[in-house]
Amino acid sequence: MKIAVLPGDGIGPEIVAQAVKVLEKLKAEGAPIEMETAPIGGAGYDASGDPLPEATLRLAREADAVLLGAVGGPQYDTLDRPLRPERGLLRIRKELNLFANLRPALLYPELAGASSLKPEVVSGLDIMIVRELTGDVYFGQPRGIEVRNGERVGFNTMLYSESEVRRVAHVAFGIAMKRGRKLCSVEKANVLECSELWKEVMIEVAKDYPEVELSHMYVDNAAMQLIRAPKQFDTLVTGNIFGDILSDAASMLSGSIGMLPSASLDEHNKGMYEPIHGSAPDIAGKNLANPLATILSVAMMYRYTFADLATADRIENAVKKVIAQGLRTGDIWTEGTQKVSCTEMGDAVLKAL
Ligand code: NAD
Repeated sequence: MKIAVLPGDGIGPEIVAQAVKVLEKLKAEGAPIEMETAPIGGAGYDASGDPLPEATLRLAREADAVLLGAVGGPQYDTLDRPLRPERGLLRIRKELNLFANLRPALLYPELAGASSLKPEVVSGLDIMIVRELTGDVYFGQPRGIEVRNGERVGFNTMLYSESEVRRVAHVAFGIAMKRGRKLCSVEKANVLECSELWKEVMIEVAKDYPEVELSHMYVDNAAMQLIRAPKQFDTLVTGNIFGDILSDAASMLSGSIGMLPSASLDEHNKGMYEPIHGSAPDIAGKNLANPLATILSVAMMYRYTFADLATADRIENAVKKVIAQGLRTGDIWTEGTQKVSCTEMGDAVLKAL
């Protein structure tokens, strides 16, 4: 179990340190875990002038899984684009061919008050969004800005090959099998040929998974349904741009960005695991950050890369326990609960584990 640990910038090192404590405990119990740390993002730039240093990429390639904190910070915003921290992140996803992005939107009943929606609409919410991550209009060619008929036009190409749709479909059906066996494929097949093909391939792949109930929804309706009645969804699969937008909307259903983990997988279940939030420069270095999204990212690592569901459940249950105990970092604190620091939250999870 070789894990590349890439803390990154801002609160990255603080939250990753708490997740590493969990991994150290599992290692002490006998798990064959090997961890090595390397800089990425602004830290990579500071160390070697590159947001994805060669040695970091090599380490990530050789590892079975990557644990990432977050990258970015105001001090890097004036760098040339290729040197900016976020470029390091995009490059590592591409270099490792991480085409399937898994983002759960899960709400612990005790935190229902932190959502901007009514508690009864979101309480107990548990959705998994599978977003294709390396294709679609973000990567399709041709793209550009050029002059046509005397004025500038901007253009991009929405493009999916059958094989790209098929491989993400298999990931999504596989995940739906382990959850509620309901998969909703989101596209815009009434208008876009690219979506028409997407839908056809989804229907083909569904034949391999007769236990899973496949449904289809147009993306505009899906946006509405996610806010209107989000608990109707179990697993959702969609392309890169639709997934980008829907997964951010879904993450807000649960109130705090500090609670949500993510995984990005390749064809062999190698994965990069990271919280969905950024480097939170406003609270960096103050021991205030919520480490739970990063700790839950370790649970996802156990679930998807190491296929050790018992340990994944154990980590998730430890997080549930500290929430039930009323411990809260500032971002999820409400009247009547106990405010704790980042390290105190990490220690509490360790104890619950
Ligand atoms: P952000 O997610 O860093 O922060 C948004 C707000 O949420 C802030 O108020 C922050 O304090 C709070 N927050 C985020 N994570 C938290 C946590 N774990 N605990 C408590 N509060 C938390 O987004 P932003 O402010 O838009 O971006 C800051 C930097 O992060 C930018 O440089 C941006 O490019 C980068 N970024 C990186 C990633 C990534 O590494 N995957 C993702 C998004 C943004």
